[in-house]
Amino acid sequence: LYGILEILERKVVQLEECRIILLTKQDLELAKALKNNEFKLYYQPQVDLKTGEIVGAEALIRWISPDKGNISPIEFIPIAENTGLIVPLGQWVLKTACTQAVDWKLAGLPPLQIAVNISAQQLEHEDFVADIIDILAQTGLDPKQLKLELTESVLVRNINLTLEKFKQLQELGIEIAIDDFGTGYASLSYIQNFLFDILKIDRCFIKDITQNHKNSAIVSAIIRLSRQLNFKVIAEGVETQLERDFLAHQGCDLIQGYLISPPLPFEQFCEFYSNRK
Ligand code: C2E
Ligand code: CA
Ligand code: CA
Ligand code: CA
Repeated sequence: LYGILEILERKVVQLEECRIILLTKQDLELAKALKNNEFKLYYQPQVDLKTGEIVGAEALIRWISPDKGNISPIEFIPIAENTGLIVPLGQWVLKTACTQAVDWKLAGLPPLQIAVNISAQQLEHEDFVADIIDILAQTGLDPKQLKLELTESVLVRNINLTLEKFKQLQELGIEIAIDDFGTGYASLSYIQNFLFDILKIDRCFIKDITQNHKNSAIVSAIIRLSRQLNFKVIAEGVETQLERDFLAHQGCDLIQGYLISPPLPFEQFCEFYSNRK
């Protein structure tokens, strides 16, 4: 029996070593990709439902790998989060998004608000707020033009620290949106304790909204709640005119989705904007 246990233990150690090697390999690949400039930001327009105008865009990262082709953020963001590489990668995203938001003006666009996705590890990093202040100073972007999209998961981790950082960011004029709203844990107690500016309703609730009674009930309740608590509300994943009409009727502020446009590379986003005018 002891012999078997020993063998098993050795196997566990071997497996753990394998896991570490695997992470390191992916880590290296991502780090190499960052160094070689293989990442690109795409921009998906956000439209004000009352005016029909594009008022902002969400920056969405793409990895265009020369060996493996296009890799979805759903695949590599969790790896970057596991390895800690999300911190430099996230900094690259912020810097690029702010730089390009300033470049929009040069391309003849009015000041649009840029929404950037932030992972929990990034927010938790001690230099996060200082880095943002640096980036705003370097790029000259008006802080009111920056919106950070954070998922509910950041709120669970270190409540006091998060509260403090939200306050610092909001004092600068930056807006905070809660992303994927409704898909995390205990959403309502977070609404009670945190001050955000915007709630972003996850795509899974928008799907079939006009036919799925549960989804339409959930979405109209979130919109009503947001109005009463003075949050702006944005719906993502809007694909049909019927969905748009439903959301407009319910009083949703902003929408984003394939109905307007898929995420586009910077140049195409500028073109798309100009052609709509
Ligand atoms: P998310 O923040 O929930 O972003 C919305 C996702 O829905 C995007 O997928 C977008 O392309 C997709 N989408 C937009 N409109 C529609 C629609 O009408 N129908 C459908 N079916 N999909 C739509 P994407 O670009 O693949 O990004 C996936 C996730 O990766 C994002 O989800 C976000 O959590 C993460 N991500 C993307 N870029 C970044 C980044 O720069 N930093 C961090 N930390 N995470 C990022
Ligand atoms: Ca988002
Ligand atoms: Ca989502
Ligand atoms: Ca998300």
